[in-house]
Amino acid sequence: MIRILDKNVADKIAAGEVIDRPVSIIKELVENSIDAGADSITVEIRNGGKSYIRVTDNGCGIAGEEIPAAFMRHATSKIEKVEDLDNIETLGFRGEALASICAVSRVEMVTRRAEDRKGTRVVAEESEVKDMRGTGCPEGTTITVRDLFFNLPARLKFLSSDASETRRITDMLSRMAMSYPDIRISFISGGKGVFTTSGKGNFLNNIVSIYGAETGKYLIPVTGDEDGMVLRGFVSNPSYTLSSRNRQIYCVNGRVVSSDVMRRGLEKGYRERLMQGRFPVAFLFLSVPGDTVDVNIHPAKKEVRFGDVFRVEDFISEAVARGLRGEEGVTRAVPETGPAEVPKLTAKPEIREEEKQVDIKQILSTVRHENTPQPVVREEPVEIPPVRKEFDFDSLEIRGTVFNTYIIAQNEDSFFMIDQHAAHERIFYEKMKNQYAASEKLSQQLLTPLSIVLPPDAAASEERWLPQLRKLGYGAEFFGDSTYLIREIPAFTEVEEAEDFLRDFVASLEDRIDVTDRKAIDRIIMRACKASVKGGDRLEPEEAVSLINQLKRCENPFSCPHGRPTFIRLRKYEIEKMFRRV
Ligand code: ADP
Ligand code: MG
Repeated sequence: MIRILDKNVADKIAAGEVIDRPVSIIKELVENSIDAGADSITVEIRNGGKSYIRVTDNGCGIAGEEIPAAFMRHATSKIEKVEDLDNIETLGFRGEALASICAVSRVEMVTRRAEDRKGTRVVAEESEVKDMRGTGCPEGTTITVRDLFFNLPARLKFLSSDASETRRITDMLSRMAMSYPDIRISFISGGKGVFTTSGKGNFLNNIVSIYGAETGKYLIPVTGDEDGMVLRGFVSNPSYTLSSRNRQIYCVNGRVVSSDVMRRGLEKGYRERLMQGRFPVAFLFLSVPGDTVDVNIHPAKKEVRFGDVFRVEDFISEAVARGLRGEEGVTRAVPETGPAEVPKLTAKPEIREEEKQVDIKQILSTVRHENTPQPVVREEPVEIPPVRKEFDFDSLEIRGTVFNTYIIAQNEDSFFMIDQHAAHERIFYEKMKNQYAASEKLSQQLLTPLSIVLPPDAAASEERWLPQLRKLGYGAEFFGDSTYLIREIPAFTEVEEAEDFLRDFVASLEDRIDVTDRKAIDRIIMRACKASVKGGDRLEPEEAVSLINQLKRCENPFSCPHGRPTFIRLRKYEIEKMFRRV
């Protein structure tokens, strides 16, 4: 039998589509506050929002007689006619949120418009207004949502632990606060302040207020300008990483979005600078011409589609790589602990004196948004001087070595330790890769050829691997019985290194790895350079100089190919601080 569902059931079903967990309620309420023109919003939760959510704003408020309508499905003040749909400037317009929230919880609203002397207090539950009366209250709106899903036990069971619901909310609100730097957003959980932004529109201050001063200390500015694309932002020094991508915030034309293209660009920019399983912190603000991007305003997830994904990816990766190749990008002398996973309460967004050196504050103040909150796409101003100081290898003065492993050096304001093994690995790796790509090979003849024994079927498939070996600078010829003679090895390798390399190469053939695949060759090279490093070698001063000079010529000098740092930097002021001199 086909039935028309009664209103209560229908409301609950519809509500389930808009509201699935506390975080979606908070998102809807905060968006309503933004739409109401608020420039100060406070969010309070208890038990991950399951038992209690309160959102207070100083927005335009609602007239008493309009309140019942606000709780009705398809009731909105934001559009009137079909044509308005083409020109939506608010975050909400479906008129569903309040109706849905009140279908599945107990809601109380207190609101007053600036022009009204008295405000209104409304209590609603299961889609019904239970009580409504005049009250004295500040200008703006406060909505309290209690006992989420009290009438839908199945849904309630489906929610995660308080802690993980809190994490979802924290994450969403952090992103929201990042995209609305002009709105003061305060978040309180279980009676404790999680963060409060200033609402003064400064990105760096915002980052520091939301994610803590510690994060602010390790940020490197990145900038890029190309074909109408402008990138501004911060990425973390490789000494400061996380075990997840939690703290990567991408903003496109003023909106926080999730973007695989930007993520790939970021990670490509860090190429070989991070150990496996470590992820940088990043706050990237991209502005692109409106016709090259499609920001899909899906209620649940903000995906973004770029016209030319590769161009955007390269643009970002180059900007990030440039930032990391500069002075600020040298790995800092701090343990790779990374930030706490949940932002801590920070008393005051305070930028320390030292950080001013890079002048990020000043740069960012030029990216600030206009004063009035504008929920729709905003373009960022373009005039920002790119900050980039190339690392000056020539300024390094070598002071010696310690533990037969580390070169000690200094320049004007920093002390450096250089891991000679990691450095050697990097140099060897790039030489091998360059040799592979170069048309002319730098080889040396061996007086006594090396012999290698290949798997029995290798001779038959010679044309698959022999040219690869040649490309790497090895000359081999068949000797008989699966044996090959190596008469030539790369000019920059020593005989033992060459032997090690060949052993790896043969092992790959035995493992039936397709060595015509460029990636396989990369891996073999990678493995070979690890083996090529000899432990505990004492370097003569001129050898140390030569090592640094060779590093200088590397494309990616600050890490070994596996992501371990070659350089560690300790600034003079950090040393002074340790000795309590400053
Ligand atoms: P929508 O946002 O899609 O219009 P909602 O159900 O979220 O639908 O809200 C319904 C209406 O209630 C809004 O159109 C708006 O007029 C009013 N409203 C909701 N929250 C607020 C608020 N915090 N301040 C002022 N008006 C609000
Ligand atoms: Mg809404």
